[in-house]
Amino acid sequence: MAVHSLKTDILIVGAGPAGLTAGLYVARAGKKALILEGRGPSRLAIPYTIENYPGFPSISSQELLGIFKRQAVSFGAEVVAGDAVAFMLDGSPKYVTTKEAVIEAGAVILATGKPVPKERMIPGEDRLVGQGVSYCATCDGPLFRGATVAAVGHAEEAVEDVQALLAMGCKILWVPGKSGGAADGPEALALEGKGVVVRREAKVKEIRGDERVEGIVVEAPSGTEVIPVSAVFIFREIPAGPLFVRAGLALDHKQCVAVDRFQRTNIPGVFAAGDITCGGLQVVAAAGEGCVAAMQALVHLRK
Ligand SMILES: Cc1cc2nc3c(=O)[nH]c(=O)nc-3n(C[C@H](O)[C@H](O)[C@H](O)COP(=O)(O)OP(=O)(O)OC[C@H]3O[C@@H](n4cnc5c(N)ncnc54)[C@H](O)[C@@H]3O)c2cc1C
Repeated sequence: MAVHSLKTDILIVGAGPAGLTAGLYVARAGKKALILEGRGPSRLAIPYTIENYPGFPSISSQELLGIFKRQAVSFGAEVVAGDAVAFMLDGSPKYVTTKEAVIEAGAVILATGKPVPKERMIPGEDRLVGQGVSYCATCDGPLFRGATVAAVGHAEEAVEDVQALLAMGCKILWVPGKSGGAADGPEALALEGKGVVVRREAKVKEIRGDERVEGIVVEAPSGTEVIPVSAVFIFREIPAGPLFVRAGLALDHKQCVAVDRFQRTNIPGVFAAGDITCGGLQVVAAAGEGCVAAMQALVHLRK
């Protein structure tokens, strides 16, 4: 997959109420707003009836999300699909990488929603992000040419990622984590024919390594094994928390991105809004923080 370059005035990472509100304000102010929409859905995409968003006595969450998106786009904001997998936020301009693109921006607004709880991560995952734990085959696969790597996850895109790792010359142990779905389709069977080992009955319980990934602990009906691998590629929703820490962002005691009352993070030109800050954990709060973050990001651009 070719990686291309994009450039924008303000990059907004996340397309929930916070990110879409920020995009609306940036675009309406005449600046280029690029909104990155990740694979994990907005919480507002989960169907529920919302009765406490002012102006709408009762509306379905998905309908409200659709309205937010159409309004942002109507002012010229561009919504692009892609998970942010790496951040270079120090200095100016700033760079955010997805599997498909490297995006350059004058300012960045982070609006990726509620952090993935640590309990849903594999033990060792957040500690070893960037040290062999990766969420992007295209970005990091070439570093492990000829080495044995584990692929974890059963999302539809996992097949594409395993194919990419194979094309880069990695030896692959694929632990989908559940049977059915992508790992049982004809493409997965074809991958097995090309030497990919698929362990459908197993689950990865731990990622081991001191400074770098050294192996995985796998639990299967036949027992628990420790398997040496040089890297672990995880294909599911991306827990931005560890990526943010690597990028130098300060988190608070709840592992949420720390902001001041102007939605400024500890890095100049980087703002955060919505559930990512654990502020109100409500749609109206997310939209309000998105608005403040956008206005402050516009101020930053003028400096
Ligand atoms: C069942 C349920 C009921 C609720 N009821 C109410 C209610 O009645 N009233 C109310 O006000 N609120 C309610 N909420 C809460 C509300 O939905 C959230 O507070 C709100 O959606 C938060 O908005 P957000 O923009 O911060 O994050 P989200 O809406 O979660 O959006 C996050 C966005 O970030 C993107 N993303 C994540 N990671 C990445 C990445 N690495 N790269 C790129 N993009 C990424 C996602 O794809 C998504 O687009 C409810 C939530 C749930 C789950």
